[in-house]
Amino acid sequence: MSTALVGSNAQASFVQGLQCRECGNQIPKAPVHVCEFCFGPLEVTYDYAAIGKVLTRALIESRPKTMWRYAELLPLDGPPAVGLATGMTPLLRADRLAKKLGVRELWVKNDAVNYPTLSFKDRVVSVAVSKAREFGLDVVACASTGNLANATAAQAAAAGMPAVILIPFDLEPAKVLGTIVYGARVFAVKGTYDDVNRLCSEIAGKYGWGFVNVNLRPFYGEGSKSYGFEIAEQLGWKTPAHVVVPMAGGALVTKIGKAFAEFEKLGLLASGSRKAKIHGAQAAGCSPIVDMVLENREQIRPVKTPTSIAKSLAIGNPADGFYARQTIIDSGGWAAKPDDPEIIAAMRLLAETEGIFAETAGGVTLGATIRLINDGKIGRDDGPIVVCVTGNGMKTQDPLVGQLPEPVSIGPRLSDFDEAQSKLKS
Ligand SMILES: [Zn+2]
Repeated sequence: MSTALVGSNAQASFVQGLQCRECGNQIPKAPVHVCEFCFGPLEVTYDYAAIGKVLTRALIESRPKTMWRYAELLPLDGPPAVGLATGMTPLLRADRLAKKLGVRELWVKNDAVNYPTLSFKDRVVSVAVSKAREFGLDVVACASTGNLANATAAQAAAAGMPAVILIPFDLEPAKVLGTIVYGARVFAVKGTYDDVNRLCSEIAGKYGWGFVNVNLRPFYGEGSKSYGFEIAEQLGWKTPAHVVVPMAGGALVTKIGKAFAEFEKLGLLASGSRKAKIHGAQAAGCSPIVDMVLENREQIRPVKTPTSIAKSLAIGNPADGFYARQTIIDSGGWAAKPDDPEIIAAMRLLAETEGIFAETAGGVTLGATIRLINDGKIGRDDGPIVVCVTGNGMKTQDPLVGQLPEPVSIGPRLSDFDEAQSKLKS
């Protein structure tokens, strides 16, 4: 393994251990995700004083353009085992889309082109599979709504580890095929994602496998911070005025908040940086976290049967829902839930104005952004607005079937083309 990819002067690890988010109980690093005293979720803690002594903007900028340029703030003890090319996806200024929406400055953070499986899940899985190796676990596994299945299967293959993937039975065919192709064993569970997740907790306890989003969850989640780090670095070491984030389990919202806070704590942000308002997006057909924000309550009301086309966000009982809401409220952000026609319209708008084909979740995020602008929650002149695109439209084409114009059928002669072309013009 070449250490050059993470930078020769990257320290081994600044991780102190795990700490319960509820009662503060501290334990050493281990593949566990809940507190033994109160069942609260465990969070990785770092020695920020030590990190602050070594990590500078210049050091980060000197490293290869991958998520590992922030190695000190990621929870591995050594170089990553997989995902060495993951991250540092484009942050694109979207002026044509901005004009359509009537805002001054809009950006798209495009993880639809992340490596290797075209979604932000490549980040979390790079960390989790590497961590499974460090813990000496033999098998990696996950409960997934699709993108995580693709990422886990691919990275497990790259690490030479067997993968066991559990998904709801009704996932998009492209996501199922794009998992099995890597040689993973896939179980399609007759139930919702929440049923799948519950089953995985039981399997993790019994089989001792490394479930990336169950017993490895504290480490896995930290990989999402790289998405937030990159946004700030790519904006010139500044956080945006607004960032709109899709929510399934709710972890990405909290980790973007943590990423911005860590950069601020370490003095890595340029002077005069504003505090970013973090907004959450879910589809109207499954919006348990958005509803907590809109209805101003702290308790989740789980959605029994998600109905949206945005299957990758269809988690009815989100693990990080409580904390996602807290992050949103503390930042001064808000939330919105576009319906399926708005989601499809937003997917088309993004593709037609910026040439970016996002998956349905991207349509949810842009649809929510449009609502937030129209409701005045995002000011048109507020400064940089970042729309988070976290997955690729090639994986979720089914909802667009029948929604787009058909190709024009012609014969192979110039006269056929001329005739058809003149008809189209008229
Ligand atoms: Zn606890």
